[in-house]
Amino acid sequence: MTNFEELDLIEPLVNATARLGHRTPTEIQRKSIPIILEGKDLLGIAQTGSGKTGAFVLPILQQLHSTKGKYPKALIVAPTRELALQISKAIEEYGKFTRIRHVTIYGGVSQHPQVRTLKKGVDIVVGTPGRLLDLADQGHLQLEGIKTIVLDEADRMLDMGFIRDIRKILQMLPNERQTLLFSATMAKEIRKLAQQFMNQPKKAMVNRNGSTVDAIDNYVLFVEKQRKFVLLRHLLAQPKTDRILVFTRTKYGADKVARLLNRKQIRSATIHGNKSQSQRESALAAFKAGKCRVLVATDVAARGIDVNNITHVINYDLPDTPETYVHRVGRTARAGRDGTAYSFCEPSEMRTLRGIERLIKKNLKRADHPFNNAMHQSEKRDLRPRILKQV
Ligand code: AMP
Repeated sequence: MTNFEELDLIEPLVNATARLGHRTPTEIQRKSIPIILEGKDLLGIAQTGSGKTGAFVLPILQQLHSTKGKYPKALIVAPTRELALQISKAIEEYGKFTRIRHVTIYGGVSQHPQVRTLKKGVDIVVGTPGRLLDLADQGHLQLEGIKTIVLDEADRMLDMGFIRDIRKILQMLPNERQTLLFSATMAKEIRKLAQQFMNQPKKAMVNRNGSTVDAIDNYVLFVEKQRKFVLLRHLLAQPKTDRILVFTRTKYGADKVARLLNRKQIRSATIHGNKSQSQRESALAAFKAGKCRVLVATDVAARGIDVNNITHVINYDLPDTPETYVHRVGRTARAGRDGTAYSFCEPSEMRTLRGIERLIKKNLKRADHPFNNAMHQSEKRDLRPRILKQV
């Protein structure tokens, strides 16, 4: 088990982690800190709760420890004021034994105190896109000295419509810089942003709460599209399928699956982008309380789901990107529990399946079932007799 010293962190930072009671680095910290200290660009796929803030704040503090100057050298951009304040708190805590100065910049309040702090000189600026851009445009925020930029929860920033602000900010920065991008998922837009603004980024990937794909029984079930629903019912009739999260590709698909399940007396709720905040909250509350056994979700809406005891994740449709698979299945097997993931794969999804298997560096176990006469001939060869009866 690695500790913080082994990551080559300097004493004031190691002492600060000890003071916080953090004994060992989390997985994302272990993976990211060495890459950042080397000065490389980093694409970090990790969610809140993984310790991602420390993963970028610690090495940034280390890089700034022995430099001084009037202009900020690190810029951290976050989607919301709450997250910006949380990051600033982490800077204070991890930086307790350093003299690094920072400021938090966000809208909805008077800009004067923020501008005053900037005038005194800061090393790190943390902020939300709109106000950052505003102060930069007014000439209060100097960006020419920035050596490191962090885009935290980049996927959320894109969802919230900040893409233009982010592009503008990135274009104002020196070309010679380190770019760190953290996101919960590897959506297409995130890849695009990385391609455009990053320099051969290294990747660090963990899923929610550190539960890894290895801790999960990953099965694939080959099935034709029109038989997916009967297969789902078949799985739900198996023992120990207590709390199930089903992923569909589309909102329409989510509603349809939930409607059909409810018709069969299997209590289900949906959460997806077309639902209001209060509808999502009540669906989640019902799922958490065990009032409904199945929650059907799309990827975007599922991002905020924080439910323990999910026994099974079922991919009714395979996700568009392999990284999303890791996130989806990471919802089960949390806190040391067992978890199972079933992925339905129709013939047109074979390529996606191969992508997932390449990413996680192992094959999903092929599981037979009564509805699989659609199974690809090429896949039949993969079935080993010992796993034929696993479902
Ligand atoms: P984050 O994902 O950055 O929002 O961090 C989630 C929580 O984990 C925060 O309350 C941190 O203080 C805590 N944390 C971060 N790193 C560690 C660590 N290495 N050991 C224990 N707790 C940690």
